Amino acid sequence: MEKKKLSLPVQIVIALILGIVVGLAFYFMGKPEITTNYLKPFGTIFVNLLKFIVVPVVLLSMIDGIISMGDMKKVGSVGWKTVAYFLVTTAVACVIGLVFANIFNNVGLFPTLQLVDGQVWEKATSANFMDTLIGIFPSNLWESFRTSNMLQVIVIAILLGGGILAAGEKGKLAQDMVTSLYAVIERVMAFIISLSPIGVFTMMAWVVATQGPEILGSLGIVLGCAYLGYIVHAVLCYSVSAKAFAGVNPITFFKKASPAMIFAFTSTSSAATIPLSMECSEELGAENDVSSFVIPLGATINMDGTAIYQCVATIFLATCCGMTLTVGQMVTIVVTATLASIGTAGTPGAGMIMLAMVLQAMNIPVDMIMIIYGVDRLFDMGRTCLNITGDISCALCVTKWESKKAAEVK
Ligand code: ASP
Repeated sequence: MEKKKLSLPVQIVIALILGIVVGLAFYFMGKPEITTNYLKPFGTIFVNLLKFIVVPVVLLSMIDGIISMGDMKKVGSVGWKTVAYFLVTTAVACVIGLVFANIFNNVGLFPTLQLVDGQVWEKATSANFMDTLIGIFPSNLWESFRTSNMLQVIVIAILLGGGILAAGEKGKLAQDMVTSLYAVIERVMAFIISLSPIGVFTMMAWVVATQGPEILGSLGIVLGCAYLGYIVHAVLCYSVSAKAFAGVNPITFFKKASPAMIFAFTSTSSAATIPLSMECSEELGAENDVSSFVIPLGATINMDGTAIYQCVATIFLATCCGMTLTVGQMVTIVVTATLASIGTAGTPGAGMIMLAMVLQAMNIPVDMIMIIYGVDRLFDMGRTCLNITGDISCALCVTKWESKKAAEVK
């Protein structure tokens, strides 16, 4: 990777610009079908690879995460408070994302794309709550994998992860196998992600050629919608919880958290930001043993920014392919996006891979991802920044709940 002259984000930006230029050229030449026939197939190959990797990534990363929570029992009360904080704030993030996406959608800011030459988007099928509930539980392991039924894959991961922990010594081999397979799958995922410039170029050219220049304005709008969600969540959730639970002034909170926030914004990796997040949380008064538990766990499973992004992107893409989602389906988005953000690795672009899972759960064609893929880095910067801010605020709150006294700002 390091030997390459251009880093992946730079390659993606170049591919994006080239794709727009080529797409506009074919649009104004009145020959968009050339992009459909000769460029889009390569984008489809890339999307197929993404679809292929999503089941093993979700399965293995979740089992691996559950196994590593084995020692959470030891950490007892810190563990459940942390996880409760993560779950509540992530669910709130999903709701904020959905509210903004629906407002933008209802005032007609999200477009419905035209279909090209008899092409059909599969429609989302609405099911009632009980059917949805029954549908979460698998009846056949391979069937769940074959149909990429992500909610069922998550249930399988939870059951297998729990089983491995419960089996103790005898589960050791399975534990090692999961860890080793996950390392392998991570490499495969890195390879597929390295192909993304090809996917971005071909799909962007196709989208712009078939939809015209208006689609570019829509991308700016959906980005604005996500950032509005990020900011409102930071102000609402983190400043309120820092003040109410940890007794820290919101301005002090954001000021002292800013080194980690800026690093996350530029690196787009929660994992790489761990050392800085720990330092900032301790500066703000979190206890060392709490922050050394909460921050790494949060960098792995607490992704509020990712959750907002997944909700906004799902509504945007659903509208693009002409779907109107019911309230029941919105609830499914909250549940799936919360789980998907938990399963998202704290690495650049990981939230986009998990978006495929949310789309699959909603029966939205995964190909649609390519519409926003090219600008994913811009979404990622904001969501990673929010992700780690949530970890820092959690460390402060848990410190306070554990010590029963306000965290002292140094
Ligand atoms: N880049 C994000 C993070 O590291 C994950 C994501 O892509 O949403 O927190």
